[in-house]
Amino acid sequence: SRPASTYLPPVKLEDHTRSSRQSIVGVPAPPIPEGIEGCIGNTPLFKIKSLSEATGCEILAKAEFLNGAGQSPKDRVALNMIQMAEEEGLLTPGQGDTIYEGTVGSTGISLATLARAKGYKAYICMPNDQSKEKSDLLHHLGATVERVTPAPITSTQHFVNLARTRAREHTASSEDKSKGFFADQFESLANYRAHVKTTGPEIWHQTGGQLDAFVAGAGTGGTISGISVFLKQEMGMGRNLKVVLADPEGSGLYNKVKHGVMFSNTEKEGTRRRQQVDSIVEGIGINRLTENFEAGRELIDDAVKVTDLQAMKMARWLVEKDGIFIGSSSAVNCVAAVATALRMPKNSRIVTILCDSGTRHLSKFWKNVGEMGLEEEHEQTNLLALLGLE
Ligand code: PMP
Repeated sequence: SRPASTYLPPVKLEDHTRSSRQSIVGVPAPPIPEGIEGCIGNTPLFKIKSLSEATGCEILAKAEFLNGAGQSPKDRVALNMIQMAEEEGLLTPGQGDTIYEGTVGSTGISLATLARAKGYKAYICMPNDQSKEKSDLLHHLGATVERVTPAPITSTQHFVNLARTRAREHTASSEDKSKGFFADQFESLANYRAHVKTTGPEIWHQTGGQLDAFVAGAGTGGTISGISVFLKQEMGMGRNLKVVLADPEGSGLYNKVKHGVMFSNTEKEGTRRRQQVDSIVEGIGINRLTENFEAGRELIDDAVKVTDLQAMKMARWLVEKDGIFIGSSSAVNCVAAVATALRMPKNSRIVTILCDSGTRHLSKFWKNVGEMGLEEEHEQTNLLALLGLE
């Protein structure tokens, strides 16, 4: 099978609809992927027209919701974590081995899909405040789902700690010698390395190395770190690329990037958990420093705080103006991309990530968007005024 990092030029629709087969003779057919895992990566990068027009910059989006297995950038991460575990003998297909993970959803969905494809079981611990469609989907994929009440990371009941414990329990008690593998997306460096290996090179190739800023939120931090490490260090862009963190309400990362501290003197690192009321945004924003965030933290130049209201307005705007239906973290990224554009010279090129589709967020984020009731603003044609960024 071809490595995920190999760039394939997109096949044009016309190529398939030409009446004469003659016209495509001589054009080498793209290789046919081996299974669903061959459909990961090589996602399109496209210009968001309305945001580009409103800012005078070129705002480009990497359509990561088009990854072919679990429909998010976590496909890349899950595949890399499984492949590394197989190489290290921590997982063997067809032996009844189980992949354990603590996740707010996307990584679990990618792992559960790939577990099916590769002959493993999946056991997912996730907080019970995440949108229901994600846990429903996990059930349909055949994963065992343990939904837990949100707890601080210092608690044994935190979804990440629980997944680690369940993996240990599996290995300790398995009579058939099957293994429990804790994927550990927050701390496993296979996470950000998946983006160093694939997403970063794809962005470089698709832009011809011509980009001025990269904007992304951080959950584990794998995406922002991996892409920054590739572009700034491996491709030598250094200071020529501005990396901007997009951070939702309730997250501590903005303060870390802007002021070097994450917590006030009275708050102990890691003990504060994001409350549900902090933000309805899922997948990004965190109050501890993970290995994956740390891997690229020094490469982040700036941070933008994005409110829920801005994210909701952006999500609705993108459907209305561009026909783009995205989830909450993608909306945060787009607000931060616009805010970044306003701080840069005209015609700068800014790349951001569209992580997942709005269909993953119907019952929570989009329900809120639907109930927003800002009919007057809804009619607005001035994006910057709508977002309060003028
Ligand atoms: N968006 C969504 C929907 C996610 O689930 C995640 C991962 N939790 C992210 C963005 C953030 O990606 P990363 O973990 O690489 O920082």
